[in-house]
Amino acid sequence: MNIHQNLKNILKELPQGVKLIAVSKTKPVLLISEAYEAGQRIFGENKAQDMAAKFPQLSNDIEWHFIGHLQTNKVKFIAPFVTLIHAVDSLKLLKEINKQAVKNKRSINCLLQFHIATEETKFGLDMAEAEEILENHELKKLGNIKICGLMGMATFTSKAELIHKEFRQLRSYFTQLKNKYFSAKAEFKEISMGMSGDYTIAIEEGSTMVRIGTKIFGARN
Ligand SMILES: *Cc1c(COP(=O)(O)O)cnc(C)c1O
Repeated sequence: MNIHQNLKNILKELPQGVKLIAVSKTKPVLLISEAYEAGQRIFGENKAQDMAAKFPQLSNDIEWHFIGHLQTNKVKFIAPFVTLIHAVDSLKLLKEINKQAVKNKRSINCLLQFHIATEETKFGLDMAEAEEILENHELKKLGNIKICGLMGMATFTSKAELIHKEFRQLRSYFTQLKNKYFSAKAEFKEISMGMSGDYTIAIEEGSTMVRIGTKIFGARN
C-alpha cells in the first residue's frame, strides 16, 4: 500500500475544482500523517469521537469533514473544529449544529443528505422532506450554519447505468433547490458524491467532492 502513489493516481483523474476527501475512518493517525506528507489536506471521518481524538494529534491546517450519520448528542465533540458536515438529514440536527456553532463562536458548513440508492436505509431525504426543512421558518433563525449543497450515496452495484442515473438524480435535486431556495447564495455549490468504486461516474455526473477511502488507505477491517 503506497498512500502517496494512490493519492497521485486519484488526483490525476480529478478535474479542476473537484475536491478529494481522503476518508480515513478506522485508520490510525500514522497513516493519515503519511497522506498529509504527500500533500493531502482534507480528511473524512464517520465517528465523532474518533474524529475528535485524531484532530489534536495532527496538523491544524487539516480540513476535517464529517461524512457519516451524526447523532445530535455527538455534535458537541466535533463542533469546535469541523469544516463540513456532509450528511445532515433533519431540522433537529441542523438546530443542534447551530447551537454548538454558537457556543464555539463559529459558523458550520453543512450538506443535506439525499437518499438516492435503491437499498433500504433510514438515512437521507427525499425532495419533499428537503423542502419541508428549507421552508420551515425556524431555519432562518439558525444564523451559525450554512447549507452548502447536497450529498448522496449510490447503490452498491456493478451496474454503471444505475449509478449514473442515481448521481444524475442528485444533481437534478441540486439544481432544483439551487434555483428555488439558494439562487442568491454563492455558498450553495457542492455536490458530494463518489466513493472508491464509483467516483469516476460521479465526476461525469457533476460531483464537486469525492469521498475516497479504500483506494487511498486500503481495505478496512
Ligand atoms: C466509508 C465512506 C466512504 C469511503 O468509501 P470507500 O469505498 O472506502 O472509498 C465515502 N462516503 C461515506 C459516507 C462513507 O461512509
